[in-house]
Amino acid sequence: MQWDYDVIVVGGGGAGLSAAIEAHDAGASCIVLEADKHLGGATGYSGGVFYAGNTSIQREKGVEGDTPRDVYDYLMTLNQWKMRPDLVWYYANHAGPAIEWLIDNGAEFSTDFLVCSGVDNVPRGHACKGAGEGIAAALLNAAGSRGIETVLNCRVDSLIYRQGRVVGVRAQDTEIFAPAVIVTTGGFGNNSEMVKRLYPAAWHDGWTWAVHRDNPFILGDGITMGEKIGAKVVGQNTGLILPTSGFMRALEPFLPPWIIVVNKEGERFMSELSPYSVCGYLIEEQTERRCWGIFDESTLMEASSDTRYLDPYGAGTNIPSWEEPTIREQVAKGKVKVAESLSELAVAVGIDAVALEQTVAAYNNDCDAGEDTLFFKQAPKLFPVRQAPFYAVEIRAAIIGNTCAGLDIDKFTHVRDHHNTVIPGLYAAGEVLGCWQGSRYGGGGIAVGGAIVFGRLAGQVAAGEVQRLRL
Ligand SMILES: Cc1cc2nc3c(=O)[nH]c(=O)nc-3n(C[C@H](O)[C@H](O)[C@H](O)COP(=O)(O)OP(=O)(O)OC[C@H]3O[C@@H](n4cnc5c(N)ncnc54)[C@H](O)[C@@H]3O)c2cc1C
Repeated sequence: MQWDYDVIVVGGGGAGLSAAIEAHDAGASCIVLEADKHLGGATGYSGGVFYAGNTSIQREKGVEGDTPRDVYDYLMTLNQWKMRPDLVWYYANHAGPAIEWLIDNGAEFSTDFLVCSGVDNVPRGHACKGAGEGIAAALLNAAGSRGIETVLNCRVDSLIYRQGRVVGVRAQDTEIFAPAVIVTTGGFGNNSEMVKRLYPAAWHDGWTWAVHRDNPFILGDGITMGEKIGAKVVGQNTGLILPTSGFMRALEPFLPPWIIVVNKEGERFMSELSPYSVCGYLIEEQTERRCWGIFDESTLMEASSDTRYLDPYGAGTNIPSWEEPTIREQVAKGKVKVAESLSELAVAVGIDAVALEQTVAAYNNDCDAGEDTLFFKQAPKLFPVRQAPFYAVEIRAAIIGNTCAGLDIDKFTHVRDHHNTVIPGLYAAGEVLGCWQGSRYGGGGIAVGGAIVFGRLAGQVAAGEVQRLRL
């Protein structure tokens, strides 16, 4: 067979560029095909947070002794051991070195931006200077300085599969041949049909949108191409879902601490300050997959526009969806319900009225005593729900932070079919995978980290195998 390249990388985001650089450095000729008009993918638009332990940045900050075993235990435990141990172990051991590799390639990480980004208390969230753009720029420069060929506006349509192996790709009527094809096309958050099929928990008609909206090709192409040649799709219904009031397409980084959140049964079911990596899933588990933020008039006036109450983490963040003018606008539109009594409010939104009154009474007592005795919420101030009119804002977990259904790989990034057999010539890494993340988001940085760590591995393995084919 006449090969055009040793390795074809489909998708030029974080995983794809990392794969190409590693494949090149291992001696393979390589091309990156990118559908968009620029490289970088969602990685370039991301917050640029990378989850890793045992790094030089941690040590510089005085965080000593954070071992790969600690990272492994945390991720596995959070996911009730329902993650792939081989992949998690690899990640735990290679995420730190991947940060050092990015630094060597020009990315800047600093102790000032090292935060606890999961639901653990060890700072492992490494934010890159310039956010995702900083990581993408480092990878672009590294690829460019090596002379790695990249083609933009080149959407790959299909994999060429002959005599039991993948031998190339088709893009816009052109066929390109290589003994190794690495699929790194990212997630499928912008493809509503695929969300309905592979991530139904995230689908709320008229509500759902993905943070990947600036990346037009986050459509799950790699999954579709893989499925067509018999690749297995796993991880259905996993990903990161974030809560939203649905008023605007803006991220609401956390719920306002000054509301109480109740379910259809009229009960609080979580601390209103539950971390973003947890609360979406909890909301999704409630009856009718929704809940309501309840508050009263005096709280709306006092708390909603005061950053002391809006921004419990002191991150300098406001939540425009929850500020007084927005709420009043949404009342006028009929989207926020308002009533003179709690029981009327409950009827208006379909909540159990008796239970809501009981919940509010108990919460008000806690406010008077200064302690939330149900969830021990650590808000700057607890606001009782006492003075009519009363308000109810419907909340759903409908913002897709990332999608985690997708292709299945073995521990060397070979894509597997329905019999768990490797499909020769086909590799995958990044958000296109369905076997990396479990049912709970490990914390900020696990997606970018996974893309870089497994992208690098895919490039190394593919290049090595191509060389062995040549011998
Ligand atoms: C706004 C935002 C903030 C985020 N913040 C964080 C964060 O701080 N930390 C974190 O861990 N995660 C974060 N995420 C998630 C994270 O960025 C992604 O999961 C991760 O970067 C995916 O990397 P990837 O290389 O797999 O895919 P991408 O970087 O998305 O790259 C995929 C590329 O493939 C291209 N492509 C798609 N189909 C085709 C095709 N058919 N042919 C050719 N090319 C194709 C796309 O155009 C894209 O360029 C964030 C995501 C967004 C959108």
